Amino acid sequence: MNKIFVFLKKFGNGALDVMFPDNFKCILCGRDLAEDGYFCKDCLREDIFNDSNRCVICDTRVPKGNIICNHCKSKRSFKRCVCPLNMEGNVKRAILKFKDDNARYLVAPFANLVAERLKKDGINFDVIVPVPSHKKSVKKRGYNPPELIAVRLGEIFNKPVLQALEKTVYTKKQKKLDYEKRQANLFDTITLVNKDMIKDKVVLIVDDVVTTGATMNTCAALMRGSKEVFCCGIARRNLIGSDERFVGEQKTAEIVDNVQNKM
Ligand SMILES: [Zn+2]
Ligand SMILES: [Zn+2]
Repeated sequence: MNKIFVFLKKFGNGALDVMFPDNFKCILCGRDLAEDGYFCKDCLREDIFNDSNRCVICDTRVPKGNIICNHCKSKRSFKRCVCPLNMEGNVKRAILKFKDDNARYLVAPFANLVAERLKKDGINFDVIVPVPSHKKSVKKRGYNPPELIAVRLGEIFNKPVLQALEKTVYTKKQKKLDYEKRQANLFDTITLVNKDMIKDKVVLIVDDVVTTGATMNTCAALMRGSKEVFCCGIARRNLIGSDERFVGEQKTAEIVDNVQNKM
């Protein structure tokens, strides 16, 4: 496994920030590690890897014995979506630090974990497209988290990162909206700004966290003219036991169909 970057450029003032000066620390909880690696023994005891009982298409957790989730029984606009980690416990805390607290030292290890999953699953692609944020959000946060992961993946795989999608309408955090409303909201807020960039290409769409897959489905549906679409994120939220898992799945298929028919 590659060593974590020791120095990082701190956003804003350009000063170098020493993150892990003398030894290596667990990327999730910050504890010192006895040897090179990303996770401490305590974090490894948590269920951090999204590697069992998953939907073969979208990587969401499914009850034992199932191989496909209910969302993927309807139409999906992407071929596969992979996320190496589970959005729970210390993973969740670290990802929120990365998303909302400018913890950029997490970009390299998170992207490396995603890259390992893509390689392991034999996913090949020509171009990388990050899920966009509205410029208002980028201004507020200082960066677009999926874009940082996408750029690092671009370096690892030596593939271009394209700003093919734009978030044209500012939307508030969608956490409280149900799947149906989230999906409906999204289609009106993201636009394909450069069709030529993705023409006949195998596209990899990159997000940070994949929850219901509504965003991925939206972005994938917008990739008209591309050859094929794969998706990836750092972590996948577990929807088993959550209402979101089944709400509106039929509706989602209808919305995707409508959008594709309009194209
Ligand atoms: Zn730890
Ligand atoms: Zn699925």
